[in-house]
Amino acid sequence: MFESDYFDNNVSDVSVRRGLEVYNEHKILSLELERNTLLEDRVSAQVQGSGSIIYEPELYIDLDSEQVNDSWCDCPAFRSFPGLCKHCVAVLIAYKMQKQGFSIGSSPPNDIRKKTESSW
Ligand SMILES: [Zn+2]
Repeated sequence: MFESDYFDNNVSDVSVRRGLEVYNEHKILSLELERNTLLEDRVSAQVQGSGSIIYEPELYIDLDSEQVNDSWCDCPAFRSFPGLCKHCVAVLIAYKMQKQGFSIGSSPPNDIRKKTESSW
């Protein structure tokens, strides 16, 4: 149900785990939500990378299914691997938290943690 819907199959367990770390370490500096079309949200964010690097991932998220329609990030991992990088995953977590009425930075719901722990 909800758990399996949280991330689609394009997201590897490693990305989920690392994205959760990025989120938990409060590396999301800003998150901007914008209605792109009637069916889609555009989320742009600034995420602290290693050192002083700041990445600016962008996600296009289907309002109905909350699945990612399209994504972009300027980090090297995004260019090298298919699917979402950890920055995009962190932003996706923050987006869904906000949708559920939590503020960014509060603990993610148990179902993500469960998914993450089970992939250790
Ligand atoms: Zn990235």
